[in-house]
Amino acid sequence: MAFSDLPQHSAPITLLQRSLANGRLGHAYLLLGDSLDELELLAGNFVKTINCEQFGVGFPTDADACDRCLSCRKIEHLNHADVQWLRPESKTRIISVEQIRDLMQTVYLKPTEARFKATVLVAADRLNVQAANAFLKTLEEPPANTVFVLLSTEPQRLLETILSRCLRLHCGGAAQRIPEAAQGWVGTFSQVAVQPGGGLFARYRLLDELLKQLAAVKEEIGKTMTSQSPIEKYDDADPKLIERWKDELAAGIEAEYRRRRAELLAALQYWLRDIWLAVSGTFETSLAVFPQLADTTQKIAGRLDSTKATKNLEILETTQRLLHTNVQEALALEIGLLKLAF
Ligand SMILES: [Zn+2]
Repeated sequence: MAFSDLPQHSAPITLLQRSLANGRLGHAYLLLGDSLDELELLAGNFVKTINCEQFGVGFPTDADACDRCLSCRKIEHLNHADVQWLRPESKTRIISVEQIRDLMQTVYLKPTEARFKATVLVAADRLNVQAANAFLKTLEEPPANTVFVLLSTEPQRLLETILSRCLRLHCGGAAQRIPEAAQGWVGTFSQVAVQPGGGLFARYRLLDELLKQLAAVKEEIGKTMTSQSPIEKYDDADPKLIERWKDELAAGIEAEYRRRRAELLAALQYWLRDIWLAVSGTFETSLAVFPQLADTTQKIAGRLDSTKATKNLEILETTQRLLHTNVQEALALEIGLLKLAF
């Protein structure tokens, strides 16, 4: 099994091969897709390729595992000393902090036989909060000659701080997860954000842009769900029943609204991550979640330093968290949005 056996993933494979050939291998990759099995195959072949014995110094632009050398065979049979696979524990279905601590015992040691040490986190979204925070420390100070490959079918469950430190590769499916409406809105938002100035007035315009969008979303949900409610059809029903339908409708609208609001903010988070990548010099249009905004993203990145770009990510994470509590929405959004730097 080699890259050439996975023609459906030629786009992410080409990107990996290119960074290998350029000698610019990242410390951490996040492979996103719909099937963990396929992501595992892809990760396995990537790890084999970077350690394949047929390559000496440097890699060709079409580097692929030979599948025959000792290193390739050991990795294939899961008995290579420098390649670890971390999976959710079978009972709890989570990757525990103990597993991460075990990993950290060895991760800073030099590779014993490989060119690159590699750790594949299968279902990285199953890291619990403790484990994620422990792992984050490693990502922040990545050991030399080590590559982390995170696999996820549910990236929205990953901590923003982890997501932002990985190079994302979309392996089918996941790239389309940002709904079109949210994509369009981020486009509008970015046009306001890129305007020079950046004073308080500009920030209020951004907040206003978000509030307008949320109001429109709420109205649309209200209309759609009301028209589907039985209240409309059976207005002569028992008043108690009508009362119950009304409660159910209100709760339904609220739940859907919260979902759509989280979706919009998540889309914004993705764009802020593109900016963060651009600030840190690892932005590639083909890797971006919003390739169509590449110019704007680069322009804003040019005005920020990495502290500010990282802070932006944290602000959005805090805002999302606040919205899950019972803090008043307008207040939570104001606290967050007015602090963003563009
Ligand atoms: Zn080989």
